[in-house]
Amino acid sequence: MVQELLDGNGRFVTEVFDKDKEFFYKLAGEQKPTVLWIGCSDSRVPVNMITQTRPGDIFVHRNVGNVVATNDWNLSAVLEFSINHLYIPDIVICGHYGCGGIQALEDDNLEDKYIPVWLINAQKAKDRVDEKIRALHIELEPEKRMQLIVEENVRLQLEHLQEYPFIRRAMQQKTLNIHGWVYDMLTGAIKVMKTEKSRG
Ligand SMILES: [Zn+2]
Repeated sequence: MVQELLDGNGRFVTEVFDKDKEFFYKLAGEQKPTVLWIGCSDSRVPVNMITQTRPGDIFVHRNVGNVVATNDWNLSAVLEFSINHLYIPDIVICGHYGCGGIQALEDDNLEDKYIPVWLINAQKAKDRVDEKIRALHIELEPEKRMQLIVEENVRLQLEHLQEYPFIRRAMQQKTLNIHGWVYDMLTGAIKVMKTEKSRG
């Protein structure tokens, strides 16, 4: 399988890179991405393909369940670099329907050591949806319920994002907007859930 990757790279060099050397040489000198993408690690959500963007366009952070946790040094460093050094004006948090990470909120798999701990940061999304369903006295198909949890998880992670003082500051200074999106693997379309505009 990894040989396929190297074969693919060989084709990339001859069919893509060598035909657009000027672009790639210029890009090698400096990156100026205009969006930070916080998405799920899921292999079926390839950022550049679903947004039809090119190398250099998007700064990317992906993890299980597109989670924002302020105690996550990995993402925190990505955010700091994006805001303080790259001056990126837009952050997108993109979830996706059929997310295994969100589905795992339902599992009581005691074998896993790290996944449950990680998903604590998404638990509230599930609780909020279930609370709403209870309050409305409605019955939802399991799939519809999971979709709502995926959507609520994006809203929840937007809230977590705004717990960072430097994110709030950038929004107050009107240099940053943050966006919540959900990708549908069955249609290929992105649904815009929420946009938090810079506040003055
Ligand atoms: Zn996922």
